[in-house]
Amino acid sequence: MTSIKNLSDSQSNSRSSNCSSESATTTAPDISYRLNFERFLEHLVDVTLTFTASNDTPCLWLPAWIPGSYLMREFARHITAVHYQVEDRQLVEDKKTEGKESASDYQAINCLESKHRAQKIDKNTWQLPQVEAGQVLHVHYEVYCYDLSVRTAYVDQQRLYGNFTSLALAVEGQEQSPVKVSLLVPEVFLTAQNLENQHSANEEESKNISNVVLACGLDATHLQTVSQDGDGQHGYRLQADSYYQLIDHPFEISKQQKFDFIIQDEEHQTLSHRFFLSGKHSANMGRLQQDVTQICQTYLNWLGDAPFNDYTFMTYASGQDYGGLEHINSTSLITPRRDLPSSDEPDLPSAAYQRFLGLCSHEYFHAWWVKTVRPDVMLDVDLRKEAFTPLLWVFEGFTSYIDDFMLQASGVIDKASYLTLLAEQINRYYQTQGRAHQSVAESSFDAWIKLYRNDENTGNAGISYYNKGALVALCLDLTLLQKSAGRYRLFDVVKAFYSQAKQNDNQRIGISSADMGTVIGQFMPIADWEAFESRYINGVEELPLEQLLAANGIKIQADNKETADKNVPWGMRCSETPAGLKVNRVQRDSAAAKAGISAHDVIVALDGIKADTKQLSTLSIAPHEVDCYLFRRDELICVKVQPKTEKQKELENNQSDDVNKPCPHKVSLRLARTDKLSESEKEADNLTSTPAWQAWLEVMTRYNG
Ligand SMILES: [Zn+2]
Repeated sequence: MTSIKNLSDSQSNSRSSNCSSESATTTAPDISYRLNFERFLEHLVDVTLTFTASNDTPCLWLPAWIPGSYLMREFARHITAVHYQVEDRQLVEDKKTEGKESASDYQAINCLESKHRAQKIDKNTWQLPQVEAGQVLHVHYEVYCYDLSVRTAYVDQQRLYGNFTSLALAVEGQEQSPVKVSLLVPEVFLTAQNLENQHSANEEESKNISNVVLACGLDATHLQTVSQDGDGQHGYRLQADSYYQLIDHPFEISKQQKFDFIIQDEEHQTLSHRFFLSGKHSANMGRLQQDVTQICQTYLNWLGDAPFNDYTFMTYASGQDYGGLEHINSTSLITPRRDLPSSDEPDLPSAAYQRFLGLCSHEYFHAWWVKTVRPDVMLDVDLRKEAFTPLLWVFEGFTSYIDDFMLQASGVIDKASYLTLLAEQINRYYQTQGRAHQSVAESSFDAWIKLYRNDENTGNAGISYYNKGALVALCLDLTLLQKSAGRYRLFDVVKAFYSQAKQNDNQRIGISSADMGTVIGQFMPIADWEAFESRYINGVEELPLEQLLAANGIKIQADNKETADKNVPWGMRCSETPAGLKVNRVQRDSAAAKAGISAHDVIVALDGIKADTKQLSTLSIAPHEVDCYLFRRDELICVKVQPKTEKQKELENNQSDDVNKPCPHKVSLRLARTDKLSESEKEADNLTSTPAWQAWLEVMTRYNG
């Protein structure tokens, strides 16, 4: 068992910056943040940061990105001017002596000198001039919080949610000092929740405001204070060992439903888990508890123990939004409410609910695989600049393979459903032309400028390291099984890295491409790994999905109805609008691309007839050139499109050699039944009475007991 304390990020202070900073060698007093949510209706949070300067002219900085989401998000843009005041020590001492007031962080406010404006010295750093080492400072700033995502902060009358990467300015040189946070919730926020409850159908619920609670992976103390003007203030006090530990713990204060559950590790120690759900929804909480418990327990059965003592799921149910972010002992999720289980959820979860369970599974696994074992560059990372790594495919790819796989391994979905999810992954890959142009290692490296900034050309130029990474993980798993004659698989590779992390002092490790080779080399011949790496990871060779799946008793079948000609006629993805057919994407080398049709064009007429989906589909295969009238911005253009002819299509379909045959647009997967295989197929697959897929899909037989 490991404690969270041991796992707190111990990042070095040795950063270069424009700011002079001496590292705090003596034990610095606590740094405290006071977050006042009184202006929640305006989406503003008023923050007061109190600390003792460890050097003259101290600096404060805010991260530009949040771990787990690799884009420079420039959180500093939501901070309005920063002011500061120096505490008058003499006055504080006098008051203490008089015994009138304590010098607590609330009352010290009476002993402050006049306000100064902090000076910005770069995009996310503020300098405090005229401050000397040893002075106690009170820094004030407001943060605009109205981004409904798991990466930033959001406050309104329904919820107070935040990541400290958006809210807490770090004191340069004191990032390792302990941190205290007060979250002060005004009475009026509770009243707003109460009013809302009065409209609730559930009368019991409407009387009860005690379900306005805090969800956070950090331990919290409840605060109940009365201010000088007699107003009640309600809130929470959090503590973290360091700034880096603080920013790994998002929080939410709102009306939430909650359940607790216990997971056991292999030593039969109990790990308490909490699941919070906020937002408007009518989820079947009992069912959710049952399925999430089963999934989490399966991870523990496989991995033996966890890098945390307790774990918190925080979920916000919304209309459309979707996302998740991993933390060391919690995760913040946002999901469409329709993805949550219904009161009459069938035994086999609906496709929407499977998606939510997949999200829970994904982020939970990240506690081991990203937070504990991570790319080397993410170990002591500077959150003010990009951290480039070719290994995101290892972390997000393995996780994207294992998340759905574990749904079937835990039994919450059946094997056929898992194969449907896997087929969707394969279809996304086959439908992305960019896979022939960007390797999955390059895709990882360029995440900062490409994956999170996709545009109309993204699918033509590259491939997602989530999508291809998941399929590379599948191929690696099946290759390991094959090369080790069924003894080892990807799950053993992950476990080997995790045990290395546990032996490390800070219970975390950063790994490089070379480390991948060293560990994988323990499970299969190194030459085979090197060939795999050069073809499928650093290279852009087509993944051997069909062969590997077939060898493991899975039939991959092209869908003859859902063809490219039907779904992406002329290589275009369009949506029908009252103005005409709006072009969303154009595939490279397609009839549309060659004719000069571009994304964002609005096609108004085809062959002299008003353009709509039906008209386009009748012309997707045609023996003649088509006149296509379209608006590009506000200008009318006519282009000539040369569709595929019936004859060309036939030739394509009858293409005998595998290399030139285009990948199917859509496939489905099914378990091969040994009794339906011919004798020669059985021989080829070396099948006897046990279907080949058992060795692949029934992973838990290796780890259970
Ligand atoms: Zn992830």
